[in-house]
Amino acid sequence: MYALKTHGDGKLELVEELDPTPDTGEVLIRPVAVGICATDLEIVHGTIDPAYVNYPITIGHEWSGVVTQCGADVTRISVGDRVVVQGIIPCEKCRECLGGHTNRCEIYDEYGFTRSGAASSAVIAREHLVHVLTSQASNESGALVEPAAVVTTGLMKANPLAGAKILVIGDGTIGLIAAKLARIWSPSKVDLIGIRSEQESLAKHAGVDNFFLASDELNEKYDLVIEASGSKSGATVSFQKLIRGGTLLILGLIGHQETIPVAIDDLVNGDHSIYASFGYTSLAWARTVALLNSGELDLTFLVTHRFPLSNWQQGIDAVLNAPAPRGKVLLLP
Ligand SMILES: [Zn+2]
Ligand SMILES: [Zn+2]
Repeated sequence: MYALKTHGDGKLELVEELDPTPDTGEVLIRPVAVGICATDLEIVHGTIDPAYVNYPITIGHEWSGVVTQCGADVTRISVGDRVVVQGIIPCEKCRECLGGHTNRCEIYDEYGFTRSGAASSAVIAREHLVHVLTSQASNESGALVEPAAVVTTGLMKANPLAGAKILVIGDGTIGLIAAKLARIWSPSKVDLIGIRSEQESLAKHAGVDNFFLASDELNEKYDLVIEASGSKSGATVSFQKLIRGGTLLILGLIGHQETIPVAIDDLVNGDHSIYASFGYTSLAWARTVALLNSGELDLTFLVTHRFPLSNWQQGIDAVLNAPAPRGKVLLLP
C-alpha cells in the first residue's frame, strides 16, 4: 500500500508500506475520495496543537471508500460496500462517552490525527464505526460527512426553532455546509456573510437566501449566528448580529490562544446564549449519514477540485491558492 505522510515539518511524502490485513471485527477499506482542509495543512506544518497529533502521520480525515476485505466475525458489512467511517474513535467507557459526548472522549483517538488517515490506498476500521452509504449518497458527498457532522453537532446544541432567522459567517466549506444543513431545522431564512464575491454561486447552491460581503452594510439581526469564518473580524461581527435572546454558535478557530474583545454588558443585556462546538458526536455522525442516505442532504455540489492522490501537491496548492469559487478539494486515491 502507499500513504501520504508527514512529520509535521512542512513536508509530505507518498511512501510505500506493508499491506494491512483486517483482524477479527475489522474491515479493510480502499479510500476513493479524500478531502483536504486547513487542518491538514496545520498538521503538515506542525502548527496544530501537538496534543492532537502522533507524528509521523498519514493525513486524511474527510473521506469515503469501498470495502475490499472483511475480517472474521464481521456481519453487517460486505466486500464492495461503499462506506464512511466515524473518524473520532470513542473509547465507549469514559464518563464523556457514556454521557453521549463522544467528541470529548477522554482518550482522544482520530483517523488522520493520532492514527493513519485515508490519504492512502488502505485503511483498517472496526465494523461498528463503519456506515454503509446508499445509492442516494455519492462518494464525494460521503467524503464531506466529517465536516458536515461537525456542523450537525453544533446545530444540535444550538437547536434553532422553526422559523428562526439564521446568519452564517464564513464562505468556506464549513460555512457553506452550515448554510445547507441549517435548512433541516426549518428556518425562515438563511443569510451568509463571505469575503469572496466569487463564492456566491456555491452559497446559492447551498440554499442561501442573501449572500453579503463583509464590506456590505448589514443592519439586520438574527436568532442564530453561526461563526464559521475562523477569523477575528468574523468572530467580532458574530457577536454584533444577535437579536436579544439570540444564540451564537462558534465553529471556527481563529488561531491558538488568539482573542477578540467582547462587550460583556451587551451579552448580558442581550440575554445571549453562546455555544462552541468541538468535533462531532457519534449521534451527530449517524444523523448526518442518515440525511445523506435518505437523499435529504447532498453535498456533492461543494466539491470543486479533484486530483489523483499522486498529484497531492496540486491539491495542497488548490487549498491555498485556487481562485474562488472554491469548495472542497479532493484527492482521489
Ligand atoms: Zn477537516
Ligand atoms: Zn471515551
